[in-house]
Amino acid sequence: MAEEEFKTYNGSCHCGNFSYTLTVPEIKRGERCNCSLCHRKGYFWFNVTPEQFKADEGTGELSSYQTSEGSSRHLFCATCGAGVMAKMPDESLMAVNLNTVKGLDRKSLEVKELDGASFGEPYKTFDVPTDTIDALDLPDYKTYTGHCHCGDVKVAFKSPDLYAPTTFVVSDNCSICAIHAYVIAYPERHHYQITGIENTTAYFMGDKYADRAAAACARQNPGVLPPEAEGVSDEFEGD
Ligand SMILES: [Zn+2]
Ligand SMILES: [Zn+2]
Ligand SMILES: [Zn+2]
Repeated sequence: MAEEEFKTYNGSCHCGNFSYTLTVPEIKRGERCNCSLCHRKGYFWFNVTPEQFKADEGTGELSSYQTSEGSSRHLFCATCGAGVMAKMPDESLMAVNLNTVKGLDRKSLEVKELDGASFGEPYKTFDVPTDTIDALDLPDYKTYTGHCHCGDVKVAFKSPDLYAPTTFVVSDNCSICAIHAYVIAYPERHHYQITGIENTTAYFMGDKYADRAAAACARQNPGVLPPEAEGVSDEFEGD
């Protein structure tokens, strides 16, 4: 392909600690994967070669997480939790999270679905304690449970049926929610139970968003607040 057909894209994690430049043919589609890590992290993948990816000069380091030994390394910012990319074990191929690319109209991109959940060993989920919320007298509520990928942080909450049209479930387009592709439920105070809160780190987007601090597992940083209820979303305009 001729040199002039390549475009330059800039990307970064949310806090800007890590930034990069891509030189690739125009990005027209991305890939979503249903595996245990990708759906938690909200990854929207785009494959690049190591030559097409360049970390910006003076940029910070990323932390890494593997779902199993010998699997690809997922690289994320330890400050803001944004998953930036993944590298195959031999580093011959890498994938960038399009949620971190600036100025990209992600809704206009073609989406390819990957069935990563069917590859390799099935993911083993963890038991989630619900004793505190079980004691609540909420007969019409359902109990939802979830946890981060490594199991260090677990969350359980009581809520009206998340699939009911009257229940407020949000997929927000603000900068932090877009990077993590959060799907957010709003259990009332005292209707949730978090186990392993000491294993989380908090990230604040500034005073305006102090209420949106995301508690995330320190080991691989998926936000723990989104439940594992997929396909439940309403769009609303954030800022
Ligand atoms: Zn960051
Ligand atoms: Zn995946
Ligand atoms: Zn974890």
